[in-house]
Amino acid sequence: MKHNFNAGPCVLPREAVEAAIEAIRDFDNTGIGILEISHRTPGWERVMAETRQLWRELLNIPENYEILFLGGGASTQFFHVPANLLNKKAAYLQTGVWAKKAAKEAKFYGDVEVVASSEDKTYSYIPKDYVIPTDADYFHITTNNTIYGTEIRYDMDCPIDLVADMSSDIMSRPVDVSKYALIYGGAQKNVGPAGVTFVIIRRDLLGKLDRKLQTMVDYKTHAAEEDKNISMFNTPPVFPIFVMYETLKWVKKLGGLEAMNKINVEKADLLYNEIDRNSMFVGTAAKEDRSIMNVCFVMAPGHEDKEKAFMEFAKERGMVGIKGHRSVGGFRASIYNACPVESVKALVACMQEFEAANK
Ligand SMILES: *Cc1c(COP(=O)(O)O)cnc(C)c1O
Repeated sequence: MKHNFNAGPCVLPREAVEAAIEAIRDFDNTGIGILEISHRTPGWERVMAETRQLWRELLNIPENYEILFLGGGASTQFFHVPANLLNKKAAYLQTGVWAKKAAKEAKFYGDVEVVASSEDKTYSYIPKDYVIPTDADYFHITTNNTIYGTEIRYDMDCPIDLVADMSSDIMSRPVDVSKYALIYGGAQKNVGPAGVTFVIIRRDLLGKLDRKLQTMVDYKTHAAEEDKNISMFNTPPVFPIFVMYETLKWVKKLGGLEAMNKINVEKADLLYNEIDRNSMFVGTAAKEDRSIMNVCFVMAPGHEDKEKAFMEFAKERGMVGIKGHRSVGGFRASIYNACPVESVKALVACMQEFEAANK
């Protein structure tokens, strides 16, 4: 058995995968597979509408917000956001390379003020002392820093519009959406496969600026058919949305985001407790900023030479995808929603076994 700790794309709920396989054979009892149908068939329009309804329900998204499913990944949102929202100046919190890349794209549209950065310590913490400039059009944060295993796990009060890249912790806990102007992310960490990008945007921001935008870049284009609860300006990523639909049905069945959060905290505690207890390993992220989604650790001082050996040891026991990002080194276990607690327990057991064998 394999234990999949990949950082994204990553493990999906087995039920969602099985449903997807069936839909490729025969979608909605039409006798035609989902990869081969028109996105204007009623069956598909129903899936689109129900998927948006699931987002609304699970995240308790207020009525004055639109939910868009686009292509291009979170990286495309790095420029869609400023194109639509940045008039003169935007503020960014630099908590990792994704945040840095987001700020870079914003510079095409106006001034960018980086209010704080944790680059000095390889983004191993979330800066706390900073002032959000009230003359900026919005403040951009990355709630979970996938590469470094740090997370802003609360909904902050912000004096200006708050924009969040939630690619890697969306649907991992309840979120007070009303505190955000816009939330976006790629689906491939926590809500589905690669290929679909979600954007939750407060309605008054649609068409806010006078800037002339290309049709596809303008959020207004994609929200145009909201009265029908379906937004399909062009062909949506049908198959990724279908897998997202099945994934969210699974989240709902488990009890929604309160339940999801509880399970995620339990999984993260199991792993962090072992890292802190085990003499062979140390965590790399500041304890108060530890992510419940990506758990980063390295060999403890004096054991650095055993990194390759542990990697081999873990591989033999079915662990997949635990190599840390090259900028951090060591190991990273991504334990998103769909990662079963059994996999976390297997990794903990593997770390204990390794310690016993190397003492
Ligand atoms: C993975 C990731 C991205 C990049 O997403 P793409 O969909 O590949 O563009 C951006 N931000 C965060 C926080 C991520 O984890």
